[in-house]
Amino acid sequence: MPDRAPQPVDRQLPTDEARDLISLVREIAQREIAPHAAEEEDAGHFPRELFTLLSESGLLGLPYDSEYCGGDQPYEVYLQVLEELAAARLTVGLGVSVHSLSCHALAQYGTKEQQAEYLPAMLGGGLLGAYGLSEPSSGSDAASLRTKAVRESGGDWVLHGTKAWITHGGIADFYTVMARSGGEGARGITAFLVPGDAEGLSAAAPEKKMGMKGSPTAQIHLDGVRISDARRIGDEGQGFAIALSALDSGRLGIAACAIGLAQAALDEAVAYATGRQQFGRPVADFQGLRFMLADMATQIEAGRALYLAAARLRDAGRPFSRQAAMAKLHCTDTAMKVTTDAVQILGGYGYTADFPVERYMREAKVLQIVEGTNQIQRMVIARHLAGPESR
Ligand SMILES: Cc1cc2nc3c(=O)[nH]c(=O)nc-3n(C[C@H](O)[C@H](O)[C@H](O)COP(=O)(O)OP(=O)(O)OC[C@H]3O[C@@H](n4cnc5c(N)ncnc54)[C@H](O)[C@@H]3O)c2cc1C
Repeated sequence: MPDRAPQPVDRQLPTDEARDLISLVREIAQREIAPHAAEEEDAGHFPRELFTLLSESGLLGLPYDSEYCGGDQPYEVYLQVLEELAAARLTVGLGVSVHSLSCHALAQYGTKEQQAEYLPAMLGGGLLGAYGLSEPSSGSDAASLRTKAVRESGGDWVLHGTKAWITHGGIADFYTVMARSGGEGARGITAFLVPGDAEGLSAAAPEKKMGMKGSPTAQIHLDGVRISDARRIGDEGQGFAIALSALDSGRLGIAACAIGLAQAALDEAVAYATGRQQFGRPVADFQGLRFMLADMATQIEAGRALYLAAARLRDAGRPFSRQAAMAKLHCTDTAMKVTTDAVQILGGYGYTADFPVERYMREAKVLQIVEGTNQIQRMVIARHLAGPESR
């Protein structure tokens, strides 16, 4: 049995424009992204130049309004683009997803004036965004964040505090930052658009991570950062609701990236198992591996269907928060299982850096943690079923 080259995923796309878009993304992925992925991840290199290319190709603002240089694409198309990018390199797919997350607040809650002033550069001007909710002492309990925003008599805001785990921390051109402008709890939080070169903003050294080494994750220190009120997004006290609304959509991005990563691992496993001979036959002949491959493929298809169903609800203007949590939970658990099984299928070679599956396995882990851990996704889903916890 010869090695089986992976076939492109057969996607249901709503328009010819969307089909052209996917072809363009596959071309960029094959030509520009995949060939450098292993080497650059190993070296911890963030491919800034690729993000410039993606911006020039109109791929950094896809789900947003074309009036502000967005791509006017439905979420179901945008997510499939993310899936293709993540299959080539997770740092890139996830980076586009985080950039999109960081644009959500202004695109949904900004005034017309703010949108006209800032959005075109954010969506189509080559800028890179970051999203600042987490802090050293507040992760899952994000509403307990401590970064302070104090309004001065002249109307400006002054920000003090530390944001933690910020993807693109230190290299982003802008940060959507949630800070405490009022009392305790979720209602005391306001959102701000902070320029990356603001005086008083600095980044710590990037975290040393298990995977995704090409994607910088760093603490951001805000030491008296002065922001004009024109950069406050939404009302005072609305920041936590804005942050959660962004995460509902962002979680679908994580789900799509997870399926891209899992698909890449399955493709590697199939190609290897059909080529590797043991006992005089390809190992893909053995039912023990055939059933593993079948289960991997089935979980991937189920995950893709789940994130697309949630995206179509969003595109139709219907509530999708529960479905987004389910998609994030299922797709990222699938990525973890499928990448682990892919290592198993490659045997000893799977455990080496000669093949990408060990990297995929390390990368999959983070997807179960970011944008709400999978425990938090279960809490969100259970609240929709059983109502809020009594305490
Ligand atoms: C690589 C990376 C990139 C990231 N990028 C960003 C970013 O760009 N912007 C940003 O704001 N944040 C970012 N994060 C932060 C991420 O969102 C948090 O790590 C995550 O929300 C969990 O918070 P924590 O790490 O503080 O864990 P904790 O909240 O301390 O949780 C510890 C453990 O307790 C569990 N737990 C907590 N509460 C409950 C509960 N009520 N019920 C059951 N279990 C619970 C958690 O699931 C986890 O297993 C990133 C993190 C990583 C690792």
